Amino acid sequence: MGSDNLFKNKKIILLSIFLVFLLILTACGNNGEEMPQAEDNAFLMDTLVQMRAHGENAEIAVEESMERIREIENLMSKTIETSDIYKLNNNPESEIEIDNESMNVLKKAVEYAEMTEGDFEPTIGSLVELWGIGSEDAAVPEQSEIEAALASTGYNYLDLADNSAEITKAGVKIDLGGIAKGYAAEEVKKVVQKYNIEHAFVNLGGNVLVIGDKVDGSPWKIGIQDPREGRGNVMAVVDAVDLTIVTSGNYERYFEENGKLYHHILDPKTGYPAENNLLSVSIISENSFDADALSTAVYVMGLEKGMKFIENMEDVDVMFITNDLDVYLSSGLKNIVEINDSDFNLIEGENLAD
Ligand code: ADP
Ligand code: MG
Repeated sequence: MGSDNLFKNKKIILLSIFLVFLLILTACGNNGEEMPQAEDNAFLMDTLVQMRAHGENAEIAVEESMERIREIENLMSKTIETSDIYKLNNNPESEIEIDNESMNVLKKAVEYAEMTEGDFEPTIGSLVELWGIGSEDAAVPEQSEIEAALASTGYNYLDLADNSAEITKAGVKIDLGGIAKGYAAEEVKKVVQKYNIEHAFVNLGGNVLVIGDKVDGSPWKIGIQDPREGRGNVMAVVDAVDLTIVTSGNYERYFEENGKLYHHILDPKTGYPAENNLLSVSIISENSFDADALSTAVYVMGLEKGMKFIENMEDVDVMFITNDLDVYLSSGLKNIVEINDSDFNLIEGENLAD
């Protein structure tokens, strides 16, 4: 009898332990699996947009975010004939009424043009068209054509008023390709926050923004793509909570002629693709709008000038990868970037910002 009771008690104890385990497992399940999740992919703003959100309103938040990106594309595309930018570009020397949103982006673009002494150049449109990089008929232009396009480049030919803008010289064309995706990412953040979503990310063709952390409370891991041609792997991982990483690289859009690579980030001083021994520049900060403009500008500046420029800004960091696969990090990044490909050499100790 006595041993029977003992046996019974043991069973109860075992059963209770088992129940506690189950409760813990269900609790994990509630946090992890049962939190609603939604995701979507679309080709918008001339790039692949991917988004995911977790939370009660995930589905509507993702849907509305995609709609917002489409609205922004419709306002700021160079090629959509009803866009503000198309109207501006095709009606030089006349005052064009501009939507508030486009005005915000134009103003920020001019602000960065001033800050970077024209390395970021919103009126790069004529040069971009001339080179046609990314199109079928991309080719190295004649020097005379480059000079003509350079004469049609300069943010001083763009006049901004409160609700209207004017291109003051025929031939000058606006191109917001270096900044509009960052603006869109920030607008996605607003939509997601409106729906009280605490975990989400959006990636607009290399323009990554994460909102909050992951559902399990750990940071999002953002992979930095290996910038060498044809390699799909990730060469570094950044732990990210409420952070954006925007990369500008020479490998995204380019063509080759006589064995030389011509890419889509142009140096507004020369009219040629910026040549500074860089494969890519990634800006890491909280604001994607600024980070997008900065990634393009800093790529044009090159390593030394670009590093100084970023080290002088608060809460903005940068990672450079050179053609030799040397990696340079600004001071705020040392602990959050992990390089996991031994082909890349982290260059430390040289303080470029001095
Ligand atoms: P991506 O568009 O590939 O994400 P970027 O943010 O660096 O990369 O933007 C590059 C685009 O910006 C080009 O395709 C062109 O439309 C425009 N652009 C090129 N050179 C400049 C420049 N110096 N300043 C501003 N915009 C530029
Ligand atoms: Mg950019």
